[in-house]
Amino acid sequence: MFILSEDSQRTQGRDAQSSNIMAGKAVAESVRTTLGPRGMDKMLVDSGGEVVITNDGATILNEMDIEHPAAQMLVEVADSQEEEVGDGTTTAAVIAGNLLAEAEDLIEQDVHATTIVEGYHEAAEIALEAIAEQVSQDAVDDDVLKQVAESSMTGKGTGGLTAESLAETVVEAIRHVEDDEGVHRDNVTVHTQIGASSNATELVPGIVIDEEAAHDAMPGEVEDASIAVLDVELGVRTGDIDAEYAIDSIDQLNQAIDAEESEVRGYAETLAESGADVVFTTDDVDERISSFLAKEGVLVFDNVGSSDARQIVSATGANRVGALEDLEESDFGAADRVRSQNYGDDDLAFVEGGAAAEAVTVFVRGGTEHIVDELERAIGDALDVVSTALDSGEVVPGAGATEIAIADKIRSEAAGIEGRKQLAVTSFADALDVVPRTLATNTGQDPIDTLVDLRAAHEGGERAGLITDGETVTIDDPFEYGVVDPADVKREAIQSATEAATMIVRIDDVIAAE
Ligand code: ADP
Ligand code: MG
Repeated sequence: MFILSEDSQRTQGRDAQSSNIMAGKAVAESVRTTLGPRGMDKMLVDSGGEVVITNDGATILNEMDIEHPAAQMLVEVADSQEEEVGDGTTTAAVIAGNLLAEAEDLIEQDVHATTIVEGYHEAAEIALEAIAEQVSQDAVDDDVLKQVAESSMTGKGTGGLTAESLAETVVEAIRHVEDDEGVHRDNVTVHTQIGASSNATELVPGIVIDEEAAHDAMPGEVEDASIAVLDVELGVRTGDIDAEYAIDSIDQLNQAIDAEESEVRGYAETLAESGADVVFTTDDVDERISSFLAKEGVLVFDNVGSSDARQIVSATGANRVGALEDLEESDFGAADRVRSQNYGDDDLAFVEGGAAAEAVTVFVRGGTEHIVDELERAIGDALDVVSTALDSGEVVPGAGATEIAIADKIRSEAAGIEGRKQLAVTSFADALDVVPRTLATNTGQDPIDTLVDLRAAHEGGERAGLITDGETVTIDDPFEYGVVDPADVKREAIQSATEAATMIVRIDDVIAAE
């Protein structure tokens, strides 16, 4: 009896398992070389010739055109890692891939998939306990936050800029948006602008938007600005109906022109008299009005995008007004400074200070699009890890030290676990070794020797990571070198990798419609 259409493809049992596992492993393998401070970059070229150069796990996996459904689940691991904590995407994908590789061996030794799943879940619980034990007892102050930021950025293409000075900018940005309720990460935006060296990257105490002044003669900068945000067309009302006037004398023509002129002047005067010295409107502004307002010293931005208008409103406290006659002084927003600046082909508006100071912008500069794009990703990660670390107040040693400690705890607790499940638990610990092993490989060290040395140091009661410090690579306490990761990044990596791996292992039947 056939219950499936003739065209559908079905793979069952071991074949299904091993094909899924292979696909998952392949995905993890593809990002392995990018892990850590000496990780390499990948250049991804899409069918349209668009090029992305990056070291970021989630970006790589998303740019790759991955079709296999099991492989796709590993991409989701990276995505959820990115979404939840903003960093550790490569780590999570590599751990997931190794959990799958270990599962394959277990299946070959006739350990049932359900036993593997149970064992992995138990091991993940032990891992979370081990992470708690690794959390630093010292307060997470600005110095630690800078270390967290710097650790997340080393190895990223940060152009001419050292991770150290970027880390300072990142911590300053996050401190700026922190209040009693916590960190308002959404109030930090990153705006990229090519053209200058990355050293020109700076923190703007406000917002930066892609908008251009309506008239060249307008002031480039207004201090102590009273800001009106309008959804109003500043021009002669054209109406919806095509009207035709029969004009049969010069007088009538002049009258019509006068009427238009006075309507235009009316708008301009109303605005100028309202007391607003900066105007953003989402609609058109008539040339005559902008020229008049320019003379009055008013800075006007026309055709402002709707999302930019929303940003201005939330940053300045202005009320968006739909009709000029409704505009009142109480609708104005305020900023210490509004300026319009030209960067080659682009014009930008900066709204700084005052009420706008709640939001800050990391204004990223770099010589080329590829540089600013990668810098934007690195800074985005750093902002995420710093806010994660500040929110939870928990950091753990990086450089593989936490993974070594977790694996050690799992192995020692595995002894008390009965039956074949013990094998699965031990395999979980072996899978975690991939992090220090990969850090070793990527820094040109022997992975086996490194693992042996790291374990020995850990068993001797020390924190032991494989630290890259400038040109040298040493085994030492990562805290001493400022190599620290937020505890939540490690937790999330363990959890999302476990979920994906166990989900893939449980599948023994793949039915694909043509
Ligand atoms: P991920 O996408 O997982 O964040 P990264 O390429 O950012 O991948 O590498 C992160 C790993 O690199 C973490 O384990 C972190 O502790 C480690 N790391 C960061 N800085 C150093 C350093 N100076 N020496 C050794 N390891 C480091
Ligand atoms: Mg990282």
